[in-house]
Amino acid sequence: MDYKGKKIIVLGAGTSGVGAARVLARLGAETVLADRNEAAVSDAERDELTGLGVTVITGRQDESMLAGVDRVIVSPGIPLTVPFLEAACEKGIEVVGEVELAYEVCKAPVLAVTGTNGKTTVTTLLAKVMALMGKQISVGGNIGDSLSEQALAAPADGIVVAEVSSYQLESVKTFRPIGAIVLNVTPDHLQRHKTMEAYAAAKANIFRCQEAGDFTVLNVDDPIVKAMAPKVHAKILCISQQGTVTDGAYFSDGICYAAKDGKAVPVVKAADLLIPGQHNIENVLAVIALAYALGVDPVAMGEAIRHFGGVEHRIEKTAVIDGVTYYNDSKATNTDSAIKALEAFTAPIVLLAGGHDKMTPLADFMAEVKKTVKDLVLMGEAADRFEAAARDAGITAIHRANSMEEAVRMGQQLAKPGDIVLLSPACSSFDWYSCFEERGDDFKAKVRKLMK
Ligand code: ADP
Repeated sequence: MDYKGKKIIVLGAGTSGVGAARVLARLGAETVLADRNEAAVSDAERDELTGLGVTVITGRQDESMLAGVDRVIVSPGIPLTVPFLEAACEKGIEVVGEVELAYEVCKAPVLAVTGTNGKTTVTTLLAKVMALMGKQISVGGNIGDSLSEQALAAPADGIVVAEVSSYQLESVKTFRPIGAIVLNVTPDHLQRHKTMEAYAAAKANIFRCQEAGDFTVLNVDDPIVKAMAPKVHAKILCISQQGTVTDGAYFSDGICYAAKDGKAVPVVKAADLLIPGQHNIENVLAVIALAYALGVDPVAMGEAIRHFGGVEHRIEKTAVIDGVTYYNDSKATNTDSAIKALEAFTAPIVLLAGGHDKMTPLADFMAEVKKTVKDLVLMGEAADRFEAAARDAGITAIHRANSMEEAVRMGQQLAKPGDIVLLSPACSSFDWYSCFEERGDDFKAKVRKLMK
């Protein structure tokens, strides 16, 4: 769409919405940024946006705002079923997501990463590896800055690496990354998507508009991802830790290989990785598969991967105190990511879990807890349901904490030298915190207090 002179409403004033409003103002659109929440926009932000010519409306959201509107750009946090968006559709006004806007304004090729878990890790590592091609790399989406601002600023000869969640992919129309990665699909966000089928379908939008000559990386060890293959139009690159692949990347005898036309080259040994766990092998394989297909040298790639220390709040080593190692995995906001953290260690674990309950099934998670956890410390809103599920699984060493400080102190008391105290909540953080970063920072602060 040529946005010049068009009237556009951006719904939702988070990072994506504010970014979209800035971009639209730059493109000469008559832009309205609307958020139902009065406090969604700070005074400084309101001044900045108003200075750019954006009309900021907060605290209301009525249909009269749709008069004369050419398009609605929706932020990922807002379900497409809210009455305002349904009213827009009834009036024939197109509703698209901020990622679609980003794609429209982007001159550079886009690589996109989705999956239930591992997106940020893969996006970050992929950006580092693609930088080996000597091009300017811009990163955005569900990570850092809004994708639309990053996309608008990216030079045509650069590369945009986009982390895209299912919420963002629900509202794309023509989005066509030249390389797409689908890492895994496990239960999460079912409050919004309702069914696993709908959740997987949203993720599959990442490759819907791709064409021959593009690439899609599919993790064929994940049955839901593997089943997407018939719908892919691009060349499929498989990743697997269970067998070899002809094109893509695989793991065998402790080594990650890149493969093209049935010929494999070794890239990196698992023993040389700084990021722990089998799930991180999956992440590394995804990066290798796409980067190798796009022409990155495997030797240089291996070197960059060996130096990658991971991303904060993802199984982040926080401290070693009296022989006990503390790990911050605050980003484990669902059961699958917490299971992956438990699987990553061989030492006995005191697990600190709980938070805002996403009401997903707990049986698999508690089965893993029973295998690997010596003491389970529960906190937050989810504690009652988690405790009941733990007892159903036959777990008896269960403790309750009413604050992060209490949880960390309990962890210290319960752990012996050689043990691990792991915060991997399997829940979002919104009961006690505004975001998982704040929760992880609080955990780390409370661990540091133990050292005093
Ligand atoms: P996302 O951006 O998809 O939330 P992150 O890279 O931020 O993914 O990791 C989120 C959580 O999931 C962390 O606890 C991390 O240790 C775990 N994790 C990372 N990669 C994977 C994977 N491939 N499979 C399962 N869990 C993973």
